[in-house]
Parts: sequence; C-alpha cells; structure tokens
Amino acid sequence: MGRTFKKVNSRQVRFSHTARRIEDIFQSHRDNFGRARDLSLKFRAGMQEIAAFIQQHTSIVCSACRKKCCVNRHSCYTCEDLVYIYALGLKTQEYGERDESRPCYFLSVSGCGLERALRPSGCNWYFCDRLYGSMEKAPGRAYTDFDDSLRDLTYLWMELINEFLAQFNAVTAQKLHIADLKYSSHRRAGYPAPLSPRQRK
Ligand code: SF4
Ligand code: SF4
Repeated sequence: MGRTFKKVNSRQVRFSHTARRIEDIFQSHRDNFGRARDLSLKFRAGMQEIAAFIQQHTSIVCSACRKKCCVNRHSCYTCEDLVYIYALGLKTQEYGERDESRPCYFLSVSGCGLERALRPSGCNWYFCDRLYGSMEKAPGRAYTDFDDSLRDLTYLWMELINEFLAQFNAVTAQKLHIADLKYSSHRRAGYPAPLSPRQRK
C-alpha cells in the first residue's frame, strides 16, 4: 500500500515555520530574552487589568450584535503575537485549514474561549464604533482610564517587539531572518495583512 501524505497548504507551512523559529530562539538563548519575558508578563497583566472593563461592554454590545466580527479570518496570530506567546513560554495551536468566513473556532456560546490577554492582537486592538460608543459613555473616569491603559500597553508591546528584535539580532548571525521577521511582523503569520478596524467587517 502506498504511503499517504497529509496535505498541508503553504499558509500552514509558513505559520509553523515562523512559530518554530521563534520558539527555538527563545529556548536556545534563554539568557538573552529575560527582558522580553518580563515585558510579556507585564503586558499580559496589563491586559488582564482592562479585561473586566471591556467585558462589561462586549457582554452587552456584542451579545446583541447581528453581524459578529468573530470569524476565522480574524483569529490569526501575527508574528508579533507569536513572539509574545512564546516569550510567555506558551504555545499556539497549529494552523489548520478553515473556512475563513465561518464563525471563529474559538467562539463558544459564552463568547471567546481564549483569555483576553492571549487572543490574537487583531482581536485585542479591535473595537467597532458601537463598542467604542458604549465604552465612552461609561461613568466617571472609567473610559479615560481604559484609554490611558490601552495607550500604555501599546508602548509596552512596541518595547517588547523591539527588545526581541534587538536580542534576535544579537544572537543570530543570519541577519536575513531579522529582516524576514520585521517584514512579516506587519502581516499575519501565513495570513494576509491584518485588517484595520474599518476594514474588519
Ligand atoms: S466588536 Fe462590534 S462588530 Fe464585533 S461582535 Fe462586537 S459589536 Fe459586533
Ligand atoms: S479569537 Fe476570540 S475574539 Fe478573536 S475572533 Fe475568535 S472568538 Fe473572536
């Protein structure tokens, strides 16, 4: 009987290749990435702090939404997300072929099944107008505090990626990999470029 081969598509190969490369570099140069790990932990804690505020609003606004944006094509990790996930010592699921227009495979009856801090950044940085509108009306300083925290988290994220790239550069002789990563950091790992909030629907 002939040997059978599992069919893999090029996106899956590219996603796995990028994920393995990032995972390997963290494992083989642990001492160089201590600061990146600390920044990732800080980012995760920061996201956890604002999660309750976001949830208060998504539980109302998103529950009533008739055209939910949680579809498979939005549930992809970028290269930057992979850096963050692997810096935390976690792993991503392997990419599987999915109908990108179908409801996201992380979506359950009670909403997203992932901890907010571990969702793809395309999910965590996306707030549609209705959701923003609801947040802005929150009493007191709730929205301003949230906005400040989100801005701080953006800077923290950039610091993390810059730190990773600096260390990656320091320990890798093949500079081409850095260029690859920088290039693809603006794109989904094996996916089309991330969509802006306006494009997402
Ligand atoms: S973020 Fe906006 S578009 Fe997406 S599910 Fe919530 S209300 Fe709907
Ligand atoms: S990962 Fe979660 S937040 Fe992102 S699209 Fe899927 S269900 Fe929605």
